Amino acid sequence: MNAPAAHLVPDYLAGLNDAQRDAALHGADAGPLLVIAGAGSGKTNTLAHRVAHLLAEGADPAQILLLTFSRRAADEMIRRVQRIAAKVSPRHARLAQGGFPWAGTFHSVGARLLREFAGRIGVDPGFTIHDREDSADLINLVRHELGLSAKTRRFPMKGTCLAIYSAAVNTCGSLGEVLQASFPWCSEWEADLRALFLAYVEAKQAQQVLDYDDLLLYWAQMVADPALAREVGSRFRHVLVDEFQDTNRLQAGLLRAIKPDGRGLTVVGDDAQSIYSFRGATVRNILDFPQQFEPPARRVTLDRNYRSTPPILAAANGVIAQARERFCKDLWSERPSGEKPALVSVRDDADQAGYVVEQVLARREAGLRLKAQAVLFRASHHSVRLEIELTRRNIPFVKFGGLKFLEAAHVKDVLAVLRWAQNPRDRVSGFRAIQLLAGIGPKTAGRILDNLQAAAPGCALLAEQPVPDGARPAWREFAALIAGLESADTWPAPLERLAQWYESQMERLFDDAQVRQADIQQLARIAATYPGRERFLTELTLDPPDATSDEAGVPLRDEDYLILSTIHSAKGREWSAVSLLNAVDGCLPSDLATGSEHELEEEMRLLYVAMTRARDHLDLIVPQRFYVTGQAGSGDRHVYASRTRFIPNRLLDRFASRSWPPVEPTVTGTPESRQHAIDLAARMRAMWR
Ligand code: ATP
Ligand code: MG
Repeated sequence: MNAPAAHLVPDYLAGLNDAQRDAALHGADAGPLLVIAGAGSGKTNTLAHRVAHLLAEGADPAQILLLTFSRRAADEMIRRVQRIAAKVSPRHARLAQGGFPWAGTFHSVGARLLREFAGRIGVDPGFTIHDREDSADLINLVRHELGLSAKTRRFPMKGTCLAIYSAAVNTCGSLGEVLQASFPWCSEWEADLRALFLAYVEAKQAQQVLDYDDLLLYWAQMVADPALAREVGSRFRHVLVDEFQDTNRLQAGLLRAIKPDGRGLTVVGDDAQSIYSFRGATVRNILDFPQQFEPPARRVTLDRNYRSTPPILAAANGVIAQARERFCKDLWSERPSGEKPALVSVRDDADQAGYVVEQVLARREAGLRLKAQAVLFRASHHSVRLEIELTRRNIPFVKFGGLKFLEAAHVKDVLAVLRWAQNPRDRVSGFRAIQLLAGIGPKTAGRILDNLQAAAPGCALLAEQPVPDGARPAWREFAALIAGLESADTWPAPLERLAQWYESQMERLFDDAQVRQADIQQLARIAATYPGRERFLTELTLDPPDATSDEAGVPLRDEDYLILSTIHSAKGREWSAVSLLNAVDGCLPSDLATGSEHELEEEMRLLYVAMTRARDHLDLIVPQRFYVTGQAGSGDRHVYASRTRFIPNRLLDRFASRSWPPVEPTVTGTPESRQHAIDLAARMRAMWR
């Protein structure tokens, strides 16, 4: 289709280029549309314009299903749509301000649909959702009950069992295939694993809990029924998916089920940024998308990059050109040229942190806010040294990826009590909650749960349960608390009561109770932003705030802070300045991933994703040695590193190479005296920082 004549282009689409506009204007009820294009080419932007255009054409926000990779991405998308809709008309601005009830991740949308359709598919609408850790605990319990943990030869650990189960579900593969492809060392256990998974499924059904994978699996099973598929499909006239390259078979399948002819379905993505195969994502989803439909989907490609300066793009193009199979062509940019990305050689982790801090402060001095800068890394623990340095220098930062708020023991405790109050059959939560009391251990907890299960459903008998004498008064208080949590109080009062009770237990449970108390208060604040307990629990489990001081936590909202993020969590985002830590073999590619060519290619795409986040400045840091922590058998040690293999010598002219600190003291003598001299030089400089 040719671009419409200029005078026919609505004002709100005037900022798009021809190909982008073409995609935004693709008929509201026309066949399926695929936008496949490289990083920073405006895919997400085009999607936002398309949503605004659909509104302009009369679409109802409630009929738009907008699937994004994270809640944060959904929020950002909605903000973009609102800005564009404001240019359409005041009425459309108001419409968009009202929000998009069905914007979110596949998992959170799945949870809402399942609750709504629960009665019709035999699921209790009060189901609770287990996060990965809860799921692993439940598998462990079942594994134990089946006697698998007592095998003479070591049976796979709970985390591995869950990973195998999850891979089979998400790739829609048979257990045998999954074992052979990804867990060959567990193949001998196939029959036992099958029995374990059956028992795990039965336990979940008996306890009315769903795990993450179930949210997709039940959704897929639900729409395998043609009548239900039609019903869900007709409710969403428009289905739009961002980052489609990171969806798995199950997700692609359920989209096809609700939109069999692809009418109203738009997906966008970049095969070169496919980085989630470890969660079962397959790049084939996007490559094969057009042919899934009859007639095939329309395909729009974009090749102009609006994000990065030409030198940054040239370096990123050079890296990804080494990939074996790639659909998108090289990107070009018309932005004024800038500095080449830097390859900065530093001595070790400490210098790496020193260099980053120096750069960040220098850029802030030059007028670049901290928020416009990010530090990226392959693995969450790579930033530990830097975090210490930032804290020492009083530079505020927020970290994405890695240990999540909800993984902290104390936050999990409070949520376990709340979940158990919501669903008394949820054994994993109950087991954790009961043992919070002094003098009550796993045996008593197990007995109480058995008693309650045998009795009528509900916790009515809770106060009567047999507990050790010393624990009785505390137990009564706890039982009253649980009863109160079930009452019809207005939210978030019940959580506040629970937080108060829990805080009174914390001194006993933790050495650092005070620090943890702040998190509990934070949790209460977050809770207050949800309409009720169930929404709070669901959303928090599915899309937890990334850090204790995340945006959900209000305090940092107006302040300036540096972003620290794993590459995976940096997907779709951009910053003016980006520093990548540990651009060395062993970290990127990770030494856990050098097994197959397939894995190596994914590591290369990760580097590409990291580099293409930068608008104006990009530093790749290459420590000459790095610290390896706690590896099996070898403990903590330094290893000598070399530059990542994805930047071979022939690409070096696309980078500016330098070392830091620029001047190294010349000292003859022992390594120790050299170290002293370097430290002294660093201290002298530090006095003036
Ligand atoms: P990624 O692959 O990283 O997800 P993307 O293809 O989704 O990137 P966007 O995030 O939509 O790209 O856009 C990248 C940047 O380019 C944004 O800052 C966006 O505002 C800008 N941009 C996109 N299209 C245009 C355009 N037509 N004119 C000017 N700027 C644009
Ligand atoms: Mg995007």
